[in-house]
Amino acid sequence: MVKHYTIPVFIPELACPFQCVFCDQRKISGSLKAPDLDEVHQIIQKHLKTLPEDKAHIEIGFFGGNFTGISEEDQSAYLNVAQHYIDQERVHSIRLSTRPDYISEEVLKLLKAYTVKTIELGAQSLDEGVLIKSGRGHTAQDVIESSKRIIDGGFNLGLQMMLGLPGDTFEKSLETAKQIVQLKPRDVRIYPTLVIQGTELAELYKEGEYEPLSLETAVFWTKEIYRIFQAAKLNIIRVGLHPSEELTDSKSLIAGPYHQSFRELVLTELWKDRFMEKLEFDKNKSLIIYVAPQELNHAIGYSRANLKLLEEKYEAVKIKTDQKLINFSFYADCY
Ligand code: SF4
Repeated sequence: MVKHYTIPVFIPELACPFQCVFCDQRKISGSLKAPDLDEVHQIIQKHLKTLPEDKAHIEIGFFGGNFTGISEEDQSAYLNVAQHYIDQERVHSIRLSTRPDYISEEVLKLLKAYTVKTIELGAQSLDEGVLIKSGRGHTAQDVIESSKRIIDGGFNLGLQMMLGLPGDTFEKSLETAKQIVQLKPRDVRIYPTLVIQGTELAELYKEGEYEPLSLETAVFWTKEIYRIFQAAKLNIIRVGLHPSEELTDSKSLIAGPYHQSFRELVLTELWKDRFMEKLEFDKNKSLIIYVAPQELNHAIGYSRANLKLLEEKYEAVKIKTDQKLINFSFYADCY
């Protein structure tokens, strides 16, 4: 099986003319300035040394800002570096993230001239009120039109969504998730909103004008949105932020539902719901539950939470693997 790897190159807030209330891109990416071309080469080469050459699809990802908002000259310079490794057949494709209002036919033409396969948009929300309160500077219609352009242009579409932005509600987030499905992205990311030092959101929080989601609420919202994306067979490539040093040093993160294992918490809850829906509990029975090997840890649960819960409901419980199972499927036998 071919494994996918992405070499991340962060271009922090370079030429981004906006200041979304939640964003201090330099802190989130852990970078203080945009890398020059030599640094991009070094980043790529460092990663390539650690990646397998066989049975691997390797892509270079330009993340962190507004890639198509920088000058054409700078875009081309960065893309040329990435293309160099594609031409050497050491890397297979390029992906990048950008704003929904910075996608035009001209932009796509430039990206098409390189091996850019995937374009990710920071959609964040498709509720106009939430977009305005978050200082995004683009509309939901921008997301819809750009998504269509990207797919029509023959690229893979990625959409990022944020939960718990100013003005957001559970219903609005669910609606955004359903609309995202309609836009037919291949990849999606789900990020709960965090309050980062130096952002406008930090000021709003200190003034009592913004209340972040609790960890429990964020896990619940994310779980329900995960279900929607999963049912639509979207590729959910990220749930929650990377535990970068900048965030875990405790000074940058002021408030919000941050957890180093946020995705595991969400998957634990999804498995808990599966067990609750399907199993008939009986204190006199001992049970073996079989799940897919790659899902064993999530079925057992973060801190073994699901196993502990099941142990209260049966005489004894074991969770084992069966290679034939996939995607949250399981069966159980008594022993
Ligand atoms: S557009 Fe992106 S990089 Fe610019 S401020 Fe907003 S989130 Fe940050």
